[in-house]
Amino acid sequence: MEIKKGIAVSPGISIAKSLIIDSEDYRIPRRAIASSQRLTEIQRVRNAFKDAAGELTHMEVAQSQEGSGKIKDIFAVHLRFLHDRSLRKKVTDLIQDDLVTAEYAVSTVLREIASHFTEVKDAYISERAADIYDIERRLLKQLLGKTREDVGRLTHEVVVVARELSPTQTAGFNRQFVKGIASDAGGRTSHAAIVARSLGIPAVVALEDLTEYVRGGDTVIVDGNRGIVIVNPDEETIAEYENYSREFVELEHRLDTIRQKPAVTRDGTRITLMGNIEFPDEAEVVLQKGGDGIGLYRTEFLYLNTQREPIEQDHYEAYARTVRTLKNRPVVIRTLDLGADKYTQSKRFAPEPNPFLGLRSIRFCLQNLMMFKTQIRAILRASVLGNVKIMFPLITNRQELMQAKMILHDVMEDLDDESIPYNRDIDVGIMIETPAAALTAYVLAQEVDFFSIGTNDLTQYTLAVDRGNELVSTLYSAADPAVLRLIRTVIQDAHKAQIDLSLCGEMASEPEYIMLLLGLGVRTMSLSPPMLPEIKQIIRSVTLEDCNRVTRKVLGMSTERHIASYLRNAAREILPEAF
Ligand code: PEP
Ligand code: MG
Repeated sequence: MEIKKGIAVSPGISIAKSLIIDSEDYRIPRRAIASSQRLTEIQRVRNAFKDAAGELTHMEVAQSQEGSGKIKDIFAVHLRFLHDRSLRKKVTDLIQDDLVTAEYAVSTVLREIASHFTEVKDAYISERAADIYDIERRLLKQLLGKTREDVGRLTHEVVVVARELSPTQTAGFNRQFVKGIASDAGGRTSHAAIVARSLGIPAVVALEDLTEYVRGGDTVIVDGNRGIVIVNPDEETIAEYENYSREFVELEHRLDTIRQKPAVTRDGTRITLMGNIEFPDEAEVVLQKGGDGIGLYRTEFLYLNTQREPIEQDHYEAYARTVRTLKNRPVVIRTLDLGADKYTQSKRFAPEPNPFLGLRSIRFCLQNLMMFKTQIRAILRASVLGNVKIMFPLITNRQELMQAKMILHDVMEDLDDESIPYNRDIDVGIMIETPAAALTAYVLAQEVDFFSIGTNDLTQYTLAVDRGNELVSTLYSAADPAVLRLIRTVIQDAHKAQIDLSLCGEMASEPEYIMLLLGLGVRTMSLSPPMLPEIKQIIRSVTLEDCNRVTRKVLGMSTERHIASYLRNAAREILPEAF
């Protein structure tokens, strides 16, 4: 049994067999085996070679029938490799001599051969390295029971284990079968984590070297409440967790009973609680969980699941569906936040050296006007169907905001020319998620109807800590006094300018921050839909007076450690079951 501690990013408990998925250039970690396991591993190698050869023969036959000679030749070369006894012997010798897993031995031997090919000057021969990598992948697929496509075609429950997951991979998971997620890399606010939370799949990230301890098919417990992953638990631990899981489900059911009650403090202040969504079908979940609307629709996810660039009608249909589901409740549609970890890097000829500081979000849109205008047209067309607001992300200065607004007006004029109806008075807002925007909030407030504070990026950019990098995850905290000071400034500036203010970063999904946010003056929050009942319960359990007292105390503290532990204790008193 191996217990690993990481960061809990999506609540809940899951116990299932592991399914390991990798990114294609990821090297299988070295994992030692006991000498008694040698024969089992060698047998696994034999089976993998046999099954991979079987799969290829099948494909070769299919190709012969369609008559594609070149591809057939390639398959024939691959098959020769798979039938080569000396190759198989090299792999099994490595297991015998070094006591390593089958997947490690396969990967090591094949990559060594590939590197010899690469060193040869002759282009024809050096290109054969790609064939060897392909054979390696095919064998690993057999050994690890994986491939990305398999995740989409699962027939039994699994815990997905990976070195790192992209938002796209996570968004493609089938919730019916993917019961838990555990990864070496990632942070609480990395986009893959946000998607896991939205899908309601328990997840733990930043486990650093978990993949060195798990083999495909091992039993794994994911404790998404406490940030723990247990590999091959003993029976006592499994029983303990089954119990804990039942209690947690009961708590969730109890919380569900308050979902149609208002989020109102004990002394009568009504708080607006909205949901963050990535896909239109989550809109229904927001309503089921008792949300008052959608405070953040991350529209860029429309790009992440398709092979082609969405056209205006794709945008329109997604927005129209969401707005109709919400029936006049507010829907804040954020314009595309592409770039950084989302979509654009893999499409670029050369990746950006610092993508989070690069051509991301509104900057990307302002350089891709056709795409930006297409989206704005669709948002405006959907605006007649309900209570739609438009929001620009990652604004850093007034000039950028004015450019975005100018484009919005250009699109309005185009629609006027074409007599297409839209809401001319649509509310226009921005996300405050850079220190520059927070510090000039009083200027920006003159130009918009609302602010929404994006604490995920605001924390990352204020503290200079990559939100998805597990190596610095302990430094990433919205409880840092620098971040809190900026949040307070933004709230005060919004109130002075009498514009609406909401907070939509993950901070609003974390129970320990709720009293502080209310004390700072936040009255609208948007959060991950599964967390709505729990946050509502906290709001219904406090008075504003409690919150103001907590906030005064926090503002007098000078270190993140003190603030975080004080807030945790204060929240624990109110909702002990949640901790
Ligand atoms: C944020 O940065 O806080 C935010 C809500 O936006 P995203 O997480 O999509 O970057
Ligand atoms: Mg952001």
